[in-house]
Amino acid sequence: MKQPYDAKEWRLFIDASKESLKAVLLHIGNAKPSIPIGHAVNCKETYDTMAKLIELIKYKCHNWYICGDLKVISMLLGLQGGYTKYCCFLCLWDSRAKQDHYKRKIWPVRNEYVPGKMNVKNTCLVDPKKIILPPLHIKLGLMKNFTKALDKSKPAFQYLCSVFTNLSAAKLKEGIFVGPQIRRILDDTKFESLLTEVEKAAWHSFKRVVKNFLGNKKSDDYKEIVENLLQNYERMGVNMSLKIHFLHSHLEFFPENLGTVSDEHAEPPPLVNVTVHASTILAIILWNVAGDGGHPILDFTAQYRSAAPVNDSLEPWRPISPNHISPNSRQIDVYHLEPNASYWFRVWANNVLGPGPPVEVLATTLYSDQEAELYKHFLEGAETFDTRTWVAAVCVVMGTLAVLAAGTCAVLCREWRRSGEQHP
Ligand SMILES: [Zn+2]
Repeated sequence: MKQPYDAKEWRLFIDASKESLKAVLLHIGNAKPSIPIGHAVNCKETYDTMAKLIELIKYKCHNWYICGDLKVISMLLGLQGGYTKYCCFLCLWDSRAKQDHYKRKIWPVRNEYVPGKMNVKNTCLVDPKKIILPPLHIKLGLMKNFTKALDKSKPAFQYLCSVFTNLSAAKLKEGIFVGPQIRRILDDTKFESLLTEVEKAAWHSFKRVVKNFLGNKKSDDYKEIVENLLQNYERMGVNMSLKIHFLHSHLEFFPENLGTVSDEHAEPPPLVNVTVHASTILAIILWNVAGDGGHPILDFTAQYRSAAPVNDSLEPWRPISPNHISPNSRQIDVYHLEPNASYWFRVWANNVLGPGPPVEVLATTLYSDQEAELYKHFLEGAETFDTRTWVAAVCVVMGTLAVLAAGTCAVLCREWRRSGEQHP
């Protein structure tokens, strides 16, 4: 690195998904571009891969502050995966004691990380004091919990379904959105108008928290604003998640300059103008880009699958080669499709922070060329059938036969005469 480098100016962002693990250095204040320093594909998000990554990037020499989703953080600290009883890495909050949630703020501090005790499974890989929670993830978590608590039979939820037709019903029910989608709902007055009074109060406090606490700068009364959110969430019956617990019990854990790892860092927004041109066995997917989430798009990914359900379920998505489509591309070909069949195609952009939401398009391939041509000719013949042509054809055939017959007769006669001459 030619530029002067100070480890304190940078934060290590670790993003893990089912397919890949990424480590990116983010500059505090975003004055310098982010630097990807580790990327592992086709490996599971496990403690072992995380340990390997920490070793490979020589974390111990730099000791950066680390930000990442709570799942990543828990893994780094050796906590057992999943929604365990003691899933907070700062205290012994009991995630199962629902009667105490929203009521009891102070829980015993987690002083030690001993494998085998209090849901600790492995040795800590990093110092728990070096952890930062990115506000985007808190926002996603708050949105998720809010949506999960919405009445699924009421208009507000149904409206969400109609707006986000690209999201599956299961994802919507689980409230799984990405940054740009949440920004869109936050500005949607129609959605707000469909909420009940209790829901509306919770929604307003969520919006205020996004603006005054999770944004680029914390406002002076942020404690009050967060407190207000917790009260309204409790009233609405929102289950307390680990992220809500953080707002409830560990508000001091969020540093002053929290906003520096903020909204400008997001996955890319959904692609636009996604269309599919299908022929018989080939299709071309086309798209345009509407933004990059604050980080350059690294590549695109496209997949497809048959739209015909087998045993009531759709087949798994099939990859389209190459898996990492060049960031300059705006189209990709898909081969080996079946003629006259319907397929779902989906495509999304990836940046250092991860994949953007996929956009799905349904398309049907054409009949097979040969079949279609044959069928066409057959039909054309039947429509323009002309007796004169037929008579002419018959005449030609009969004429040929007559000529052949005459020839044969002549030959036979000659043979017969010759044999007569030989035997007088
Ligand atoms: Zn805690």
